[in-house]
Amino acid sequence: MKSWLFGMGAIFLGFAIGAGAARAELNQATKQLARDIFKQLIEINTTDSVGSTTVAAQAMAQRLRDAGFSASQVQVLGPNDRKGNLVARLRGTGAHRPILLICHLDVVEARREDWSIDPFQFTEKSGYFYGRGTQDVKDGDAILVTTLIRLQQEGYTPNRDIIVALTADEEGGKSNGVDWLLRNHRDLIDAEYVLNPDGGGVYTRNGKPAIVEVDASEKLYADYQLEAKNAGGHSSLPVPDNAIYHLAGGLARLERYQFPFELNEVTRVFFARMASVEKGQTAADMRAILGDPPRAEAIARLSADPLYNATMRTTCVATRLDAGHANNALPETARAVVNCRILPGHGREEVRLNLIRILADPKIAVHFVSDQGELLDTARDRHVGPPLVLRSELMQPLEQIAQQMWPGAPVIPAMGTGATDGVYSNAAGMPTYGISGIAIEFGDVRAHGRDERVGVGSFDDGAEFYYRYVKALTSVR
Ligand SMILES: [Zn+2]
Repeated sequence: MKSWLFGMGAIFLGFAIGAGAARAELNQATKQLARDIFKQLIEINTTDSVGSTTVAAQAMAQRLRDAGFSASQVQVLGPNDRKGNLVARLRGTGAHRPILLICHLDVVEARREDWSIDPFQFTEKSGYFYGRGTQDVKDGDAILVTTLIRLQQEGYTPNRDIIVALTADEEGGKSNGVDWLLRNHRDLIDAEYVLNPDGGGVYTRNGKPAIVEVDASEKLYADYQLEAKNAGGHSSLPVPDNAIYHLAGGLARLERYQFPFELNEVTRVFFARMASVEKGQTAADMRAILGDPPRAEAIARLSADPLYNATMRTTCVATRLDAGHANNALPETARAVVNCRILPGHGREEVRLNLIRILADPKIAVHFVSDQGELLDTARDRHVGPPLVLRSELMQPLEQIAQQMWPGAPVIPAMGTGATDGVYSNAAGMPTYGISGIAIEFGDVRAHGRDERVGVGSFDDGAEFYYRYVKALTSVR
């Protein structure tokens, strides 16, 4: 298949958009349905601590059955009562292999006291929907379910089965749904390729669409536990050898350390395209880092931006700290968690050894923390393939619809700096693309944070986008 990266000129010419192309117009009933489903999902707590993805999966299964899906087309299944996954299938003619749309149902923990409103109450306020999961990623769940219902109610027959899997434990927990389905029910979700609304998306600047991002690669996630131990003693008789000071010294060295600059095929194209979106010094710097050799001052200036920094290098940052056992005792234990996002082509054990070198203190032990929470002496590596090929059969309709809905915003392939369930489906040989029609303002990414929100119009457009895109992917005879 043709690589899209090198065929852009032809694609733009071949898909010039007619003057009549309009912005998204959902009909009122579909708009209301999407919002009702979104509200229902936000108000079902799906955190790992006290929530249940089964409740959410069953609610969505009921929605689909109410819309005419048969029991055999919709299943809820999982390893236990609380970690259910929904798998639904809209049957096609079978002319092509199925496509799979994955989206996680679980959300990151949210404390009422940290938020200005109740995170588990769906709140519409000044043009935004607020609630935990409005960005990450119950908007995507609601949009996929709405899309299936809309296609079903139209009596649409796709040229291939469209499978939707809404799953557990992407954000944490021991029962990752995509992993579990691949291990136990591969036949139910086997597909030619996968779309995941948990990656990519539309970014706006001052409300104006700036770029449409497609995630065609992603970083590797890894947690490490740092631990300093000491015999302790009475705090009235301090000694220089102190577990907290050892750990703090190591963390200070980590704070000052930067992993080396490194680009790959996808991030090179990302910066080349972004140079035409950015202006002035930033645009010049993006061109300068693509040179041979890349300009060090340009790298340094771009590194001030968290996204550009994370696109250019592996990052490791302290995320948790826990030390000592009494106000009047010398600490016997000091621990920290360091979370790393590793560039493709590098491994978790390699980074663990790097951390030991950077912390530069034999008193600090560095353990790898597995997905199941076990502490391991050596890191469990996971294969991450090379960046995906951007197939023209996916990219052409994406270009076309993006130009209709967000005129002037270029489609830009990128490397996801977070981690998604794509790591499992990619490893299983099903190429996975992070694609979302949700528009978020640069600087307003609130996923995992307080007062998470998504624009009302952005959500409506996102629903229209997926409907058009899935239809475009499944209607070629
Ligand atoms: Zn997510």
